[in-house]
Amino acid sequence: MTTSPHELDSADPLAAMRDRFVIDDDLVAYLDGNSLGRLPRATLDRLAAFVREEWGGRLIRGWSEGWVELPVTVGDELGAALLGAAAGQTVIADSTSVCIYKLLHAAAGLRPGRDEIVIDATNFPTDRYLVEAVAEARGMTVRWIEPDLVDNVTADVLAGALGDRTAVVLLSHVDYRSGTLLDLPGLTEAVHAAGALVIWDLCHSAGVVPIALDASGADFAVGCTYKYVNAGPGAPAYVYVAQRHLTHARQPIEGWWSAADLFGMSDTYEASPSIRRMLSGTPSVAGILAVQEGVRLIAEVGVEAIRAKSELMTGHAIELLDELGLELVTPGDAALRGSHVTVRHPDARAITAQLIERGVVPDFREPDLIRLGLSPLTTSYAELAAATRILGEVVAPIG
Ligand SMILES: *Cc1c(COP(=O)(O)O)cnc(C)c1O
Repeated sequence: MTTSPHELDSADPLAAMRDRFVIDDDLVAYLDGNSLGRLPRATLDRLAAFVREEWGGRLIRGWSEGWVELPVTVGDELGAALLGAAAGQTVIADSTSVCIYKLLHAAAGLRPGRDEIVIDATNFPTDRYLVEAVAEARGMTVRWIEPDLVDNVTADVLAGALGDRTAVVLLSHVDYRSGTLLDLPGLTEAVHAAGALVIWDLCHSAGVVPIALDASGADFAVGCTYKYVNAGPGAPAYVYVAQRHLTHARQPIEGWWSAADLFGMSDTYEASPSIRRMLSGTPSVAGILAVQEGVRLIAEVGVEAIRAKSELMTGHAIELLDELGLELVTPGDAALRGSHVTVRHPDARAITAQLIERGVVPDFREPDLIRLGLSPLTTSYAELAAATRILGEVVAPIG
């Protein structure tokens, strides 16, 4: 006996969180919260007040009235609520891509004499391109792992790539296509056993998967805030540097914001002893405030509750997609997946276009994948049911 979407929504302890977001569109189902999260109502008010009162009213005084501290204070809030990171190790900065570039250089610099950077061929394009760029700039070699898309980077696959030449390993916690969730603590341990350092890209996990960076002994982490953190298009990223590396890690875009004395205007550069050393230039205050609102919504219910709904909802989605006879490239075991579910179909591009025409927004990923992102704070079971019903109608005539 199947449970109706209405019953599932009634039984969902997070259902009321949907009202905390602006849902003011003409869509039947928005299944792209894993790519661009919805707008929190609190953010709408906060940014309007910031622009009018703080920027408009305080002008340059705003910097000394708190803006200067925001990258670190909001970094600490995000670290505590989403990353399992004690204060002083997380800062809001730049974009994920720029932060990956900084961390690759910082990590490689901590392993002189080792000349390989390890990354999987399934990783997100920007991660792969940056590894290639940094390897070239530093005279290093890229050691590619070629895992199966669904199984992704397992301990066995990783072991084959590690050795005494390995300096740095860059891994995505949740694969952006298959949704496969990697074993962050286990793989971190394996990288350390080889004497190397690991950078975790948390773009598709932070905010929906509980993460314990400190407890796992992770070295570095990075992620974006416009996906499950709901901070808006182009909102700044975050960087985590474990306390033990903080005073040694040197990043390549050392600017006045990473200096020990921001307004000292010193003749010579001295890196800040704190996590501020990962900054470069003037940050986007509006962007950081949006991150803070997104983090607070997650903190209010806790990542554990979000994860519980995500496991149920992705499981339910997999059942519905199975009933349509579609091929899934997402692990069936909830412990091995993040919060999106991906279908492989030769006509994926055309199907996605037809879904969008009918008010269902997933996303298409090359070459033949349709990704359904389930964002537990905003996605309802009614949306999921409508989306899969329409998907069934669209797929049937295509065959
Ligand atoms: C979304 C995403 C990015 C995005 O990088 P930007 O610099 O914000 O464009 C990077 N890596 C992964 C794994 C992602 O999912």
